[in-house]
Amino acid sequence: MKAQPEPLPDHLRALVGQSVDDVDTPALVVDLDAVNRNMQRMVEFAAKHRLRLRPHGKAHKSALFGRLQLQAGAVGLCAQTVAEAEALGAGGINDVLISNEVLSVPKLRRVAALAHQLYTRGGRLSLAVDSGEGIERLAQAMVLTRAVIDVYIEIDIGQGRCGVAPDERAVTLARQLAGRSSLRFAGLQAYHGGAQHLRTVAERHAAIVEAAEKVNAVRRLLEAAGLPADVVTGAGTGTFAHEAASGAWTEIQPGSFMFMDVDYLRNERDPAQPQFEPALFIKSQVISLADDHAVCDAGHKSHAIDSGLPEVQALPGQAPLRFANGGDEHGVLHPEHTADEDGPLSHLPALGEAVWLIPGHCDPTVNLHSHYVVVRGGLAAGRVEAIAPVEARGVW
Ligand code: PLP
Ligand code: MN
Repeated sequence: MKAQPEPLPDHLRALVGQSVDDVDTPALVVDLDAVNRNMQRMVEFAAKHRLRLRPHGKAHKSALFGRLQLQAGAVGLCAQTVAEAEALGAGGINDVLISNEVLSVPKLRRVAALAHQLYTRGGRLSLAVDSGEGIERLAQAMVLTRAVIDVYIEIDIGQGRCGVAPDERAVTLARQLAGRSSLRFAGLQAYHGGAQHLRTVAERHAAIVEAAEKVNAVRRLLEAAGLPADVVTGAGTGTFAHEAASGAWTEIQPGSFMFMDVDYLRNERDPAQPQFEPALFIKSQVISLADDHAVCDAGHKSHAIDSGLPEVQALPGQAPLRFANGGDEHGVLHPEHTADEDGPLSHLPALGEAVWLIPGHCDPTVNLHSHYVVVRGGLAAGRVEAIAPVEARGVW
């Protein structure tokens, strides 16, 4: 099963080179200048802390942004699903880590096929495991190829999701790997998703200090067994400065920093981290106007609301607005009242006006769309640089 990009609709293809004003709504729009600045900030951070940077492709699900990240200095990409890994591989990215467990035989066959493809191109595919059964099934699937796959043992460092307990059980899995010629023990996958949105810096710091103790304990056990973990990979946009400060990780895998979202923008600002700016937007349009509110054409089918509603990004000359739930296809816009108020209507946008939204949660928002409209030169006066498919859209 190959990831098949959806064909580019004519109305989108015609947009390349046009003004951002001509982009019809609702549309998933990326501010390419902001994306490049966010990436540059992360690259500089990783270089300064001597960490390998392997951004997470789950955020963008797109080979275009994966290539952009490699060109900027990433060592490779992470994927969370097999389809994401396939899309990145098909788009020319040779080093992909699926930072997740894969147990189904059909998917493991795809993993083996992709491992073979990347291996013969001089690259590599890596996969996380957290069980003996997972290792056996992967080894079975790899029988079909002469390739070698890198395997990371995932340890649970506090999230209570995937990962073997951070004790001797990790060593048992590493020993099991050592006996398999098609599998190479590459290190530890150690990600704490539960810490990313703890709101204060102090809370995030405390969670990662505790997680680092678990990582270090497993590293010591592995060393004592003669199976040292060369790479320890993990961290997300909320905490990566704390993983860096701990010294326990060698590689970071943040994803959302490229696009940002309201949920991440609500975290208390961490002076140890570079500041990232919103770069992913839903362009919407006012389709109805009442005395005290406007209605735009972007609802839950345009943006994910698991982490809260979008916020309105006011462009120069636009009054601040608050987005309220209008259902699947609509958003209700209320004026944000200010002290020098001169009547509510003056604070509302006009019929037909564009309203830009910052989604609550970037990753599942991207997954709702078939294409990105990539804009250079800003939201107010920019031009459409490219239309990029969300190749790995879906949950496979
Ligand atoms: N690594 C893993 C294993 C993840 O599951 C995630 C996100 O859920 C990330 C990295 C990236 O996190 P973020 O998008 O919060 O930077
Ligand atoms: Mn997310």
